[in-house]
Amino acid sequence: MGVPDQKTPASVTEYVLSVLDASERTPYIGEDISQLQHSLQAAAQAADDPAVDEATQVAALLHDIGQFTPAADLRILTGGEAKNLGGQSASQSVGRAGHETLGGAMLLSLGFSEKVARLVESHVASKRYLCAVDESYYEKLSDASKKSLKYQGGPMSGAEKDEFAAGEWCREMCQLRIWDDRAKEKDLKVRDLESWRPVVERVLSASLGVPVA
Ligand code: FE
Repeated sequence: MGVPDQKTPASVTEYVLSVLDASERTPYIGEDISQLQHSLQAAAQAADDPAVDEATQVAALLHDIGQFTPAADLRILTGGEAKNLGGQSASQSVGRAGHETLGGAMLLSLGFSEKVARLVESHVASKRYLCAVDESYYEKLSDASKKSLKYQGGPMSGAEKDEFAAGEWCREMCQLRIWDDRAKEKDLKVRDLESWRPVVERVLSASLGVPVA
């Protein structure tokens, strides 16, 4: 299915779940699992912690959506190029926007809250932040993730690091990053995609300001 014309909690949820469902066939480069399994494992960890709100759980589920959303849909949702969401977590990459920037921009355009969009947008910045403040964090990264850090700008320093630390959702951004890093287990059984439908609908219902149908 394509991008929904009418943005309701049900139609947008159906759309993002269909994009995630198709990502079962997208390998996760450098890791042994599919993109869908990676997303489900990240979200399951978020939901395991009763202190984590549903917006943050949904951000964990959708954090890589900019990676596997069809290019034609991304063009519709981000207006040709992703608009910078602004703030501390903007992608440092020059030229083509990174998947995290595209993901944040498309979720905002679909009606998700700024919190969901910013958490998704920041999941590369948070890795660069954690590498700057926690030496043991870097050591625990997978080889693929260590390699990509170089292209992502390396560990943060100076003002960029301080700005990230002062951000409203710094804690959630770091949590999401750690769930992301751990969501690479081969053959791990977690709750399925369909179980997320009511959660995503509730989160959208709050941000769109309409009741779930
Ligand atoms: Fe990821």
